[in-house]
Amino acid sequence: MDVHEFRKAAKQAVDQIADYHESVPSRPVVSNVQPGYLRPLLPAEAPLDPEPFADIAADIESKIMPGITHWSSPGFMAFFPCSSSYPAAIAEMCPAATELETVALDWMAQALGLPSCFLSGGDTHGGGVIHGSASEAILTVMVAARDKYLAAKTAHLPEGEDKEEETWRLRSRLVALGSAGAHSSTKKAAQVLGVRFATVPVDEEHGFALQGPALARTLEELAAKGLEPFYLTATLGTTDVCAVDDFPGIADTLAPRVGTPTEIWVHVDAAYAGSALLLDENKPLAAPMAAFHSFNFNPHKWMLTTFDCSAVWVRSRAHLISALSIKPPYLRNQFSDGDLVTDYRDWQIPLGRRFRSLKLWVVLRSYGLRGLQAHVRKGVTLCESLETKLRQRPDLFSVFTPARFALLSLRLVGESEDQVNRRTEALYEQVNAGGQFYLTSTVISGKFAIRVCTGVAAVQEEHVQKLFDVLVEGTEKLVKGEHG
Ligand code: PLP
Repeated sequence: MDVHEFRKAAKQAVDQIADYHESVPSRPVVSNVQPGYLRPLLPAEAPLDPEPFADIAADIESKIMPGITHWSSPGFMAFFPCSSSYPAAIAEMCPAATELETVALDWMAQALGLPSCFLSGGDTHGGGVIHGSASEAILTVMVAARDKYLAAKTAHLPEGEDKEEETWRLRSRLVALGSAGAHSSTKKAAQVLGVRFATVPVDEEHGFALQGPALARTLEELAAKGLEPFYLTATLGTTDVCAVDDFPGIADTLAPRVGTPTEIWVHVDAAYAGSALLLDENKPLAAPMAAFHSFNFNPHKWMLTTFDCSAVWVRSRAHLISALSIKPPYLRNQFSDGDLVTDYRDWQIPLGRRFRSLKLWVVLRSYGLRGLQAHVRKGVTLCESLETKLRQRPDLFSVFTPARFALLSLRLVGESEDQVNRRTEALYEQVNAGGQFYLTSTVISGKFAIRVCTGVAAVQEEHVQKLFDVLVEGTEKLVKGEHG
């Protein structure tokens, strides 16, 4: 492809993308092809000769698209959104820079009301970096937490064999912690790092949020086994029900360890709900972060920034850099040696990196904070509207967890726990089989609940009303069927 052909094909691709976006509401939200559908449609081997781009584009529509689940559909109320926007899509087309990332993440931290320790110019020498996913961000900060902990625990030993032996002994005792509601990425990070993982229980009484006393009990149990807890993921907006852990309670429980060799690194995972901090009423949730070590959220989930973009901030960049910096001669230059530039390669696992800050910066400028606030508020309001409708039918539904950050969970009513579970699961399967909406479910403390997330940009009140009608109709049919 030469530059002329590129111009032509790229312009066509833009038209195709725009056509696609216009067509999304009329496409089935979930693909209905069977696994393995694609292989018979494609040649067994890659072509030897170049093919015209028009043929490739036609195959994308006829062969690839039928296998796609449309995450931007107004019927997509499953998981959490994976949002995109026209400004971010345009920014993704631009060629590649580091300094913009520092500026964009300082803007973002201020917009979320994060404490100043996370700003690049703050007293604790912190700052932010963009990773591809929250899982990657959590793994990365866990590496920094591990090395910080091991260094503090062995600081009294002189360099040498004894120190090395003690470091390896301690490594085998390390435990990373997360609540029962923490996303599985924390457990996975522990698995990748080869450290133990322990779960702190949560309960319905406290809205499934991690509480200080439960954390204290888990720490006592670990101490009795001679284990070394070094890291905790606290969550702002758990994946199943958007619970917000008790940050002040966690900070109080861990306060006696701060500044000692047993200090526990607390990472706050706000992958989805971090975007809600754009709203003034949620800003108080950000203040307790000053007691913690790192924080992440995914603008690609709810903040209209095309996948992938996961922002992570640390209060002290030195911990990341000392855990991850490797400086072979071929990567050194006068600026990096003189610490005049930020080498983001030392804040992440890969060496190479995408220019993700551009789309974040373009989104921030194109929508402005007011535009982004309006988008987030719309999701919140729609979810509250659904909650109101559900509460008006207590004969059919119970709101399991209320609308929080555009997510609620619901159950059907029934005579026994067992019946409620069976009915709720049956309704869930029926709605998804209908093809108009796509929802996800969860099971907490043995209770099956349907999750509805109204954060996708295309969702409007009419879709929420339609979903409610579908829920009512489905439930009435189910109950009638039981009696018939
Ligand atoms: N943390 C939370 C709270 C999540 O809800 C999710 C995914 O939904 C993740 C982490 C993982 O995100 P990622 O796919 O960016 O790794």
